Amino acid sequence: MSVELGMPALPAPVLSERRKTRQLMVGNVGVGSEHPISVQSMTTTLTADVNATLQQIAQLTAAGCDIVRVACPSADDAEALPAIAKKSQIPVIADIHFQPKYVFAAIEAGCAAVRVNPGNIKKFDDKVAEIAQAAKDHGTPIRIGVNAGSLDPRLLKKYGKATPEALAESALWEASLFAEHDFHDIKISVKHNDPVIMIRAYEILAEQCDYPLHLGVTEAGPAFQGTIKSAVAFGALLRQGIGDTIRVSLSAPPVEEVKVGIQILQSLNLRPRKLEIVSCPSCGRAQVDVYKLADEVTAGLEGMEVPLRVAVMGCVVNGPGEAREADLGVASGNGKGQIFVKGEVIKTVPEHQIVETLIEEAMRIAEEAGDAEGSGSPVVTVS
Ligand code: SF4
Repeated sequence: MSVELGMPALPAPVLSERRKTRQLMVGNVGVGSEHPISVQSMTTTLTADVNATLQQIAQLTAAGCDIVRVACPSADDAEALPAIAKKSQIPVIADIHFQPKYVFAAIEAGCAAVRVNPGNIKKFDDKVAEIAQAAKDHGTPIRIGVNAGSLDPRLLKKYGKATPEALAESALWEASLFAEHDFHDIKISVKHNDPVIMIRAYEILAEQCDYPLHLGVTEAGPAFQGTIKSAVAFGALLRQGIGDTIRVSLSAPPVEEVKVGIQILQSLNLRPRKLEIVSCPSCGRAQVDVYKLADEVTAGLEGMEVPLRVAVMGCVVNGPGEAREADLGVASGNGKGQIFVKGEVIKTVPEHQIVETLIEEAMRIAEEAGDAEGSGSPVVTVS
């Protein structure tokens, strides 16, 4: 039974229909237009260190990551793949550069998919028949992952640099080689650090093939810049229905990538929303420290699993209106906070009790939702 909490009823409105694609399975995660858009990240541990890698994968899983990629630059890493693939709770993709032999090792290891970079795998085109056969035998999908920094030299020569056309042509050329061997379990990425080039490259791909597409702005930078670049680029493509899996690349812990990826999808109603804080930016009319209040409420509600929109507003101009529209809200002023639940003022509390009151009410709503869904206890953590 679904619980009405004032959030948009599901299915929530989306900006575009998904572009129709072929479907494939990465482990137990479906990828393609018939499946939800999945969020990926990549471990930063030495893959050969099985325990550290599995620990990081567990953190990513807890953060909501759907599929994880691990690098495989050495024989030690390749040897670790069977244990990692077996013990990971989410599908593991092996990321292979330079050495074709590791493609086979990853397939044999039971990885859920293998990412190959045709631009830097030795004599890749000559190996396609063998790779396609091995992948087919094991039911392993292949991601053709073209990257601006390691574009096939032939295309670099033809186009002079990593243009959108060069990126798309490289990927489509490799896909055509696999198709010649009747292998179609392919998804494609064409990453560039410039969102404008990246967007155009994916648009070309979307026009010219029906393979699922994995979106990424590569080397997007530190968290602030990378988040913005990825959100803008993914937004422009998702607006056109383009994109079946995403990875936000940040120079930051991979759990942050997952949080940003999920938030991007939630913002566009491409994934059900959970906790959403509607807080005002504050201004000269604010009669309370809105930043502090919003931070404290956000921290107090971290881990909330039910969809809940909480409005934290600084004064009576927009406060009552926004607070009324949310599941739960506060409009502050004169050292007090008017607490709204589902559009009704339920009480007015002194300013120092606003945070605890909101958290209490949120827990009560979560409990009701939990009861309604038969899941028992509330899932709010108070820190
Ligand atoms: S709600 Fe009030 S304090 Fe917040 S931005 Fe609007 S006018 Fe300013």
